[in-house]
Amino acid sequence: MLSTLLSTTPERLAEWMAERGFPRFHARQVFRWVFDRRAEDFGQMSDLPKALRGALAEEWKVFGSKIAHHSVAPDGTDKLLLECADGKRVECVLMAVEDRRTVCISTQVGCGMGCVFCASGLKGVERNLSKAEILEQVIRARNLLPIEERLTNLVVMGMGESLANLDNLIAALDWICSKDGLGFGQRRVTISTVGLPEKMRKLAGLDRQYHLAVSLHAAREEVRNELVPINERVGLSAVMDAADAYFQKTGRQVTFEYVMLRGINDGPEDSQALGRLLAKRKAHANLIPYNPVAGLPYERPSPEAIRDFVETVERYGVSVTVRKTKGREIDAACGQLRRRVEAIAPAGS
Ligand code: SF4
Repeated sequence: MLSTLLSTTPERLAEWMAERGFPRFHARQVFRWVFDRRAEDFGQMSDLPKALRGALAEEWKVFGSKIAHHSVAPDGTDKLLLECADGKRVECVLMAVEDRRTVCISTQVGCGMGCVFCASGLKGVERNLSKAEILEQVIRARNLLPIEERLTNLVVMGMGESLANLDNLIAALDWICSKDGLGFGQRRVTISTVGLPEKMRKLAGLDRQYHLAVSLHAAREEVRNELVPINERVGLSAVMDAADAYFQKTGRQVTFEYVMLRGINDGPEDSQALGRLLAKRKAHANLIPYNPVAGLPYERPSPEAIRDFVETVERYGVSVTVRKTKGREIDAACGQLRRRVEAIAPAGS
């Protein structure tokens, strides 16, 4: 079985080359081909000795995944469904908004958090993605861009609870952000979490500049318990304390994501609770009107309800944005594409 290039490191690949009598410096060249010049197989690496290219192809492959499905919405949003070596499928999305090119990646197959409105959580979590599987999503999505364009933002908001796979995620992000990777700015990376206080504190202690987004979805304990079941074990105040700690440690303002569901968390009591919760914090609220999921009973609030909600939260002095839906036509909400494709063609078939 071939090893995946992105599961190793430049140092280990250099070692492998030295053991076979090739100069070690070719290892860095190989990775430059992948990160800078978008090579997807060794045959494209034209300045490597032919014998080395042959030896590499016998034992390695650039990607461990294959593209199971690629769709493009009318607004240009690309959605990739990648099939891992074990047949498990994960998805990533590439969005273009003005001059931003943003990739949204997954960290797990499925998700164990069970948020009631989410397609990814319907079947629970199957496993964590490896460092290479996380990296591959970024590189594969980046490779869809025209050669003159660069990725500008990376959001970890796809399938899975990001912080439940913190070690692999950080290993992947650190590589992407290093000069050996894409040289991506840490401040352009957003990690989303449902709110796992211990992991949030651990992330704060890593001394990185990643932006943290907490998926709040409700500012009233009883409503959050219903929407985000993990909240019953964790509690809203522990999540907020950990978010405060993240801000204190990193100096980075935390964003609070709030999926708006008609008749459930979009009323005056909810907006007032959110306003009160964030009023004294250096925080930002990002409202996400729900993208309906087939088989789930939730609906998007009316434009009037969204407007009233925003006005109320703003009255507390909180900065608020409403996220525009991108890629709705291709199911670009987490987990939706995978479900639809699996309904047609089960994984591994
Ligand atoms: S919303 Fe996020 S944390 Fe919740 S079940 Fe879906 S993927 Fe998991």
